[in-house]
Amino acid sequence: MTKIDLRLADGDVLLPGVGFRRVDVLVADGRVAAVTEPGAGPTATETIALGGLTVLPGACDVHLHLGHGSDISRPRQPSDADTETAAAAVGGVTSFIPYVMSTTPYAPLFDELKSITEEGARIDFGFHFVISTDEQLAELPRYITEFGVPTAKLFMNIRGDEGARLGLPGTDDGFLFRLLEVLKAHGGMLCPHPENIEVAWVLRDRVLDADPAGAGGLATWNATRPPFVEADAIRRATYFGRVVGAPVYTVHTSSAEALAAAVEQRHQGSRVTIETCTHYLTHDTTSAVGALAKVNPPLRDPADREALWEGIRNGDIDTVATDHIHRPVSSKDGGIWKAQPGFPGLDAFLPALFSEGHHRRGIPLERLADLVTANPADAMGLSPRKGRIMPGGDADFSILDMKSRWTVERSGLATDAGYSVYEGQEMTCRVVHTIVRGAFAVRDGKLNDGARGTGRFMPRRLT
Ligand SMILES: [Zn+2]
Repeated sequence: MTKIDLRLADGDVLLPGVGFRRVDVLVADGRVAAVTEPGAGPTATETIALGGLTVLPGACDVHLHLGHGSDISRPRQPSDADTETAAAAVGGVTSFIPYVMSTTPYAPLFDELKSITEEGARIDFGFHFVISTDEQLAELPRYITEFGVPTAKLFMNIRGDEGARLGLPGTDDGFLFRLLEVLKAHGGMLCPHPENIEVAWVLRDRVLDADPAGAGGLATWNATRPPFVEADAIRRATYFGRVVGAPVYTVHTSSAEALAAAVEQRHQGSRVTIETCTHYLTHDTTSAVGALAKVNPPLRDPADREALWEGIRNGDIDTVATDHIHRPVSSKDGGIWKAQPGFPGLDAFLPALFSEGHHRRGIPLERLADLVTANPADAMGLSPRKGRIMPGGDADFSILDMKSRWTVERSGLATDAGYSVYEGQEMTCRVVHTIVRGAFAVRDGKLNDGARGTGRFMPRRLT
């Protein structure tokens, strides 16, 4: 008889193919041992009475960036993983997949990358690699089959010297095509950053002439890289994906037009998984956050935001991620033209999504939960260990009080960026416990520092 380490008693538990049920979940050796009627089955070493709290599979945030200070390319010291996995745990996340950037091949970096991250990580993690050189392209089959890194990002917007800011060389559509061929041949998937930068450059010059002081704020930034610039690149990447026969995962889909382009290509036969990010659902160009919320693709008009919610309602959108970047707040100085793009989003991830989507808009919690659990786990090769509460799977749980009201404050954030676009906003649910392989990363709303260094790298294989 298996020794049961933990019983999660009396929660409303989301079970795959069933929905919410009042059951107990039994945990042994970091895995789900059984799901039982309340009180049934063997006694556990520890029992946590949940009193009707909502128990979801641990959330998987499959789009974010780790780094240090203004360098977002990769974790370079264990504290980079420590603070940002703490933010993840606070936001209900039990596993995540950061994008790692380098101009040199990843094979010589891989062991160090893994060990530095494991030393600090409080949750499990994988990696995506940004591919931008021929040397990396030559090594890509090893990344997929040997390292368990089957997902490759291409910045379609980095052409010519545009990449200097990120330290990346420019690529072109020929590179995109060859990258898709290698991914197809070895079982990988493309995650393109889709923006037609050549057109965006033209628009930027015009908008800069019209609004040199950036008085239009987020609307001005949106005008420099509007939805059609995004839709064009999504159409191109997913069309080439179909020609080559490789799957494409559209990261941070932000607009009605971009969503329509991806859906249209899906109907034509492209294998497309569609992601949007929390901030495109909670913010738009009329939000009063200013340059703090500058990001690429930009925050869009309110009508785009509504179109994304409709895409969630009707099932067109598959996943929601954060695109968390823990840039220091000083990088946001200087107004809309000077501020660096991107901001942190992990700390408030599930509360923001569920407050806005479930409480304000009435979308069933099961649907919203799938977007951050089973769907990303399936898309990114984390299943069957992650993404669903079922015997044999990892005992990862996001446990929420769906009736709690609280206001996001800077003092409560765990990210070392130290700010949030949600500051001052009232949330209508709260993460109470975050459990990773049976151990508490967050307990009763407080970080458990014993979790530091327990997160493990997860090699992935796409199905
Ligand atoms: Zn990103």
